[in-house]
Amino acid sequence: MPQLGFGVFQVSDDEAETAVRTALENGYRSIDTASVYRNERGTGRALRSSGVPREELFVTTKLWNSDQGYDSALRAFDASLERLGLEYVDLYLIHWPLPKRGTYLETWRAFEKLKADGRVRSIGVSNFTVETLQHILDESDAVPVLNQIELHPYFQQAGLRAFHEEHGIRTEAWAPLGQGHGLLDDPALARVAEAHGRTPAQIALRWHLQIGNIVIPKSVTPSRIAENIAVFDFELTGEEMAALGELDRGTRFGPDPATFDVTG
Ligand code: NAD
Repeated sequence: MPQLGFGVFQVSDDEAETAVRTALENGYRSIDTASVYRNERGTGRALRSSGVPREELFVTTKLWNSDQGYDSALRAFDASLERLGLEYVDLYLIHWPLPKRGTYLETWRAFEKLKADGRVRSIGVSNFTVETLQHILDESDAVPVLNQIELHPYFQQAGLRAFHEEHGIRTEAWAPLGQGHGLLDDPALARVAEAHGRTPAQIALRWHLQIGNIVIPKSVTPSRIAENIAVFDFELTGEEMAALGELDRGTRFGPDPATFDVTG
């Protein structure tokens, strides 16, 4: 899986087709969508018409909350695959754990079956906490390959990252650029950006890559799509990494997975 990919949250079906095409032209090979984004069709059109061989692409989609459960997860996967127009996906994720509902374990059993059937290459989770991850590790032999969680310099998730490391689970960061909530205006990022002749977004992405995160920044603006992948030809120093490490505020922008229970 490429360490840097492209996300399409809050992008319409038609916009997703254009944005994914632009991303592929700029060298991205990993695309992150979800059934709840309602853009699997546009994403699939861009993937299929790109001319990029299927084996070079890495396609992730996610099971929405209302589809949790064994049979419903299998049905929801069929529908996602049909919308994408693909024969398999590379990575399928449980979008949220919904701990109060208590259906993620039977959902995970369905994921194990999809993997055994070869229609999903890898299975993982998103927004799982230490507690819900531990439950899966206790009850299943299949370790999630990764956990996709909110993570950026303002919310660094040290505890969960250490837990992942201990159990061989990769960390994937959503909102890697802080989702437009002011992170990119932070003076500390600006200082490092100036020192390298780079943009704050590129510095934030470099920080992620150097702590080992997989990242999936989103943009529909062609110049930013190009900018966000141009981060493999420079490196932050230990001091710069330490300065960015101090930006952690310990508060998230998105919902808390321990209580988030939306199924609509
Ligand atoms: P992000 O941190 O990638 O921020 C995206 C926003 O940052 C853009 O809308 C744009 O306003 C701005 N931006 C992008 N590139 C920029 C640049 N170079 N310069 C200045 N501003 C720039 O936030 P995101 O889209 O929420 O997260 C990335 C991806 O993660 C999503 O598209 C989606 O695929 C995934 N995601 C997953 C979950 C989940 O629950 N699993 C939740 C949210 C997002």
